[in-house]
Amino acid sequence: MKLSIIVPCFNEQESLPFFFAETQKQLQKLPVTPEYLFINDGSTDQTLSELKKMHQNNPSFVHYIDFSRNFGKEAAIYAGLQAATGDLVTLMDADLQDPPELLPKMYQLISEEGFDCVGTCRKSRAGEPVIRSFFAKQFYWLMNKISRTPMISGVRDFRLMNRQVVNAILQMGEYNRFSKGIFSWVGFKTTYLPYENKERVAGKTSWSFWGLFRYSLEGIIDFSNVPLQLSAWGGIFSCLLALLIIVVIIIRTLLFGDPTSGWPSLVSIILFLGGIQLFFIGILGQYVGKIYLEVKKRPVYLIRETDLKDLGEK
Ligand code: UDP
Ligand code: MG
Repeated sequence: MKLSIIVPCFNEQESLPFFFAETQKQLQKLPVTPEYLFINDGSTDQTLSELKKMHQNNPSFVHYIDFSRNFGKEAAIYAGLQAATGDLVTLMDADLQDPPELLPKMYQLISEEGFDCVGTCRKSRAGEPVIRSFFAKQFYWLMNKISRTPMISGVRDFRLMNRQVVNAILQMGEYNRFSKGIFSWVGFKTTYLPYENKERVAGKTSWSFWGLFRYSLEGIIDFSNVPLQLSAWGGIFSCLLALLIIVVIIIRTLLFGDPTSGWPSLVSIILFLGGIQLFFIGILGQYVGKIYLEVKKRPVYLIRETDLKDLGEK
C-alpha cells in the first residue's frame, strides 16, 4: 500500500532533516511504501535547496513542488493532494508539531477498524498565549453555533485519509480554502486522536495573533451564512420597534398635545441605525469580496519548479 505524506514548508530549513528522520523511523514499522511530497510555499530561506538535497538522496520517493511565491498553507495542502498518488494520504507540518509517533495508531484505525479518515486534535492549549486560547475557544464555540459544518476544538490539519476522502476533497475546487471546514464538510467515517501539544522542533511559527483572527473570520464567512441573515433579523426587529414607538407617539400626542422636543433622541436614533446599516453593508461586502475572488477563477497556486514530470508540464 502506498502512503503519500504531504508536507507544506514555509521557512523550514532547520526542521526538515528532523522531520524526515523521525517520520521515516515511524513508517518503517508499517507495511506501506512512502511517497513524500514537500511543498515549498515561497520560503525565503534555504528550504528549497534542502528539499532538493533530500530528493537527490532518495529520488524515487521524495518529491518537491516549489511555488512561485507564498500562497499559504491551504494552497500547499491542495497542491499536495492533487499530486498525491497514494492509497492513503497524510498531511503533516514540517516542524514535528504533528507527531509522527501517531501514524502507526492512525494507520491501524483505518486498516483494521474501518475508518476512512483519522484526524487529530490537541488535548490542551498549554504553552499557548492566554488571549490566543481564549479567542480560539470562542471561535470554535461560535462556529459550531452558526455553521452546519461541525468543528472540533483544537483540531489539527494532521490527518490520515483514504483515497475516497482525498478524491472528495479534490472535488472541492474552491478558491477560498478553509481546510478545517472542508475536511469536516466532506463527511465520511472519521475519528479523532487527541494528543498533547508539542513545541516546534526548530524555526518559529508563521502565525501572528491578527493573522489567526483574520483566518477565523474567513472560516466563518466560508462556512456560514448566518452573518448575512443577521441583518434581516435586525431589520425586522427595528421595524417592529418603530411601529411600537409610532403607536406610543400617536397616543401620547392625542392625550397630551404636541410639544416640539426630542431632537437629541432623534439624532441618536439616526446615528444608531446608520451605524447598524453600515455594519451590515460591511458584512455583505465580505461575502461579495469572496464571490469576486471565486468567480475570477484564479489558480490556487503556481508551480515554479518540481521533480514530478506530469505536474511541471501542466
Ligand atoms: N506553512 C506554509 N505556508 C505558510 C505558513 C505555514 O506552508 O504560509 C506551513 C509551515 O511550514 C508548517 C505548517 O504550515 O509546516 C504550519 O505552520 P506553523 O508551524 O507556522 O503553524 P502553527 O503550527 O504555529 O499553527
Ligand atoms: Mg507549527
